Amino acid sequence: MFLEVVREWLCPNKCIVCRSFIKENSEVGLCLHCEEALLERNLCPRCGKPYSVDSSVCSYCNEVPRGVTRILALFPYVDFYKESVLRWKYTGIRKYAKGYSVLMANLIQREHLDIDCLIPVPIARHRYFERGFNQAFDLAHEVSNDTSIPVLELLERAYDTKPQSACKKEERAKNIHKAIRVKEDTKQDLQIEGNVPINIALIDDIYTTGSTVAECIRALKQETSIQIQDIYVLTVCLAI
Ligand SMILES: [Zn+2]
Ligand SMILES: [Zn+2]
Repeated sequence: MFLEVVREWLCPNKCIVCRSFIKENSEVGLCLHCEEALLERNLCPRCGKPYSVDSSVCSYCNEVPRGVTRILALFPYVDFYKESVLRWKYTGIRKYAKGYSVLMANLIQREHLDIDCLIPVPIARHRYFERGFNQAFDLAHEVSNDTSIPVLELLERAYDTKPQSACKKEERAKNIHKAIRVKEDTKQDLQIEGNVPINIALIDDIYTTGSTVAECIRALKQETSIQIQDIYVLTVCLAI
């Protein structure tokens, strides 16, 4: 008991989204308020964005990259959620990936997603050297621990680009084009196993225009012989 009090005092348990103190023993690290605000209701089943109020036809689905079956996100890319994902991205606090991962594992189970492997979206090499970690890879491995779905570290950056966040919407596709490739040393293994269609999930931190996801799909389709059936995109935050 005494130790618990000291631990609480030294490293108080804060919500990974709003940073308010949490008393309850949350596996995810979310306060009740933030847990209730998860992106779960009234969403388009394909692109994951909220439906407009009076329409049953989604006006955003035409922006989904070709080949993507569904996009699923935990939070909208606004307010506290945006700050939370950016804190994680720039500091690499371990408990964030663990918390997001539990939520993603729940999402996979609740939506009955049949996923054969998790493929993290690679970040630029110089940013990896700056930060010393790759948030999408860390998250993919945490999700793998929580779901037993294997991670395939298939993709890498072919060259460094301007950050997508620094590009205008119309520049993004051009900026990232051919910037992602399949790792040389994984190609051979894939060719051996490449006859059965598989379902994949691309794992990323933030989804905005979909240009990076489209580039990952281009690389997978053009540079491997794996047959891909369903492509899911699992992301922490979705720009809406
Ligand atoms: Zn909170
Ligand atoms: Zn939609």
